[in-house]
Amino acid sequence: MSEVKEIHMSSGTTGVATVGAYNDHDLKIWGECFARGIEYADGGPEDVCQVCYGYGLFTGGLGAHYGCISAGCTTIPISAGNTERQIRVLREMGSTIICCTPSYAMHIADTALEMGLDPARDFHLRAGIHGAEPFSDNFRAELERKLHYKVLDIYGLTETMGPGVAVECMEQNGLHLAEDHFIAEIIDPNTGEVLPDGEWGELVITTVDREASPVVRYRTRDITRIIPGECACGRTHRRIDRLHGRTDDMLIIRGVNVFPSQIEDVMKTFSQVSSWYQIEVGTDHRSLDIVTLKAEVNPGFDIDDMAGIEKLQRRMQAAMKAALSVGVKVKLVEPKSIPRSEGKAKRVIDTREGIK
Ligand SMILES: [Zn+2]
Repeated sequence: MSEVKEIHMSSGTTGVATVGAYNDHDLKIWGECFARGIEYADGGPEDVCQVCYGYGLFTGGLGAHYGCISAGCTTIPISAGNTERQIRVLREMGSTIICCTPSYAMHIADTALEMGLDPARDFHLRAGIHGAEPFSDNFRAELERKLHYKVLDIYGLTETMGPGVAVECMEQNGLHLAEDHFIAEIIDPNTGEVLPDGEWGELVITTVDREASPVVRYRTRDITRIIPGECACGRTHRRIDRLHGRTDDMLIIRGVNVFPSQIEDVMKTFSQVSSWYQIEVGTDHRSLDIVTLKAEVNPGFDIDDMAGIEKLQRRMQAAMKAALSVGVKVKLVEPKSIPRSEGKAKRVIDTREGIK
């Protein structure tokens, strides 16, 4: 422990926090790997990088921070939140690169447009390095159109290293793995068999030189494939495709991991509702995720008591927010109104584009 310099943890939504430890060497490698994203965007000391990933136990903020420092950029460690201030700093500092989740970038873009700004004129953005949640090609195109910059995807996870395990180049055709530090394999999640390049499966990672918390053949649960052939950019590190989701049922809502079982756990604390429910995940007009929980009240509860229903919905919403850190809209419905299935219950309906 005396050599460990930093510890990060995942949000621990499965009940147990996942811990990643870094010594001096690991922090240096992390910075270098993230810096590749900045170099892929032709960035360097001339760039002003605004890091609006959250700083803290989450690896996004500090990972991006070390990357920007390693690439020699001017770094603005503004962290997440306070969107109007983000916009003011984007304008006044002339930030050229922005690092945050794609959904937060969209929120910044929409807020700037609502404020009457013209990002092409008022901002100096060239590139955005956006990771920590899957996003579709359409979402990327919309971001690029609104903010007049180029969006690069970045991949990492607490268990192997934060963002920087793989980064997209300007070809936007897959993420180059940092193969000098990570060995990647794709396996069939059911049999464990290693699949050939080109086939979709679960990404398995072995760290080559991680010192404080190395992993061997770690199953990431992320679904991707190795893209066969070489990239048009000329770099020879192999590429993984953009993520297709996860092997388990985890939902990523505005960058926060949410399991249906967590929602169920909150529901169970309300005696007025039954265990029949459905979670609908979609997007609002700003392309931000919205979650609606439809839950059946128990037969004894008067569904026509509007005031009572509204009060219960509000209480459940507050409990969800406290337990999950994301907002869930609760809609109480009458008993037996949610379709029953003979097989596995269809608990989640996800209509978001590009997410399976
Ligand atoms: Zn490339």
